[in-house]
Amino acid sequence: MSTSLRDRFYAEGRLPDCPIYDLHGHWGPHPAIHLPAADPAIARPLLDQANVRRLVLCHHYTLFTPDIGNRINIDTVRAMPDILRAYMGINPNHPDETARDLATFDRYPDVFVGFKLLADYHRIKVGDDRNRAVWEFANARRLPVLLHTWGGSAFDGYDAVREVAERYPEARIICGHSIHGDWDHAVELARNFPNLYQELTAVPDERGPVERLIEGAGSKKIIFGTDFPWFSHAYYVGALLGAGVDDESLRDILYRNAQRILGEPAH
Ligand SMILES: [Zn+2]
Repeated sequence: MSTSLRDRFYAEGRLPDCPIYDLHGHWGPHPAIHLPAADPAIARPLLDQANVRRLVLCHHYTLFTPDIGNRINIDTVRAMPDILRAYMGINPNHPDETARDLATFDRYPDVFVGFKLLADYHRIKVGDDRNRAVWEFANARRLPVLLHTWGGSAFDGYDAVREVAERYPEARIICGHSIHGDWDHAVELARNFPNLYQELTAVPDERGPVERLIEGAGSKKIIFGTDFPWFSHAYYVGALLGAGVDDESLRDILYRNAQRILGEPAH
């Protein structure tokens, strides 16, 4: 008897035939909070337990400590290469580092799949001229760019995201947090721009938006992510499975869309 992904996950806590592709991860400690899974010896069994096949991350140090930069992403991925890949973290407040990182991108095909912008924290709009070289690089190669996006933000809210979606139609724009709180605009952008996806980190903290995004944008435009090690895969997979959508849509969101974006063979 075949049972739904949801029934099996709730009964067994794991879906062996359904790999998890998490396209919004981090790594390492953060000064604001104790994260047990910041320790790789704790993270590894958690990722295995949840059947995470791929976690694409940007290390906290890269995002917040420019003098460490992307070196830590390289070391992190190479210590767990069967699961981990990284976004090259870009902080446009430090243009020299950005130029140097971009020039070395091709040295690390085993590590970097695209870029991460954290505009709300770095206080520079996603479409600012200081990010132009990164966008042009991603656009020319159709690479994913994971944005932190948040409703009402001048740096990465609706208007700012729309601007880069129009300007860079070949880049794969992943809106981390789905422009949190501005759900109607999130749906509108995903429907209007073939290159733009909405991502689920922090979305399940409200009741309703997961369902609203999937219904409005369609399962092919929704990307699974967790901010791991901030949040657990059990929580996020459970929240998605509880949204009441069919198994084919769940498989789109949990791994098929991500495999397409990353250029990995279909599972
Ligand atoms: Zn994040």
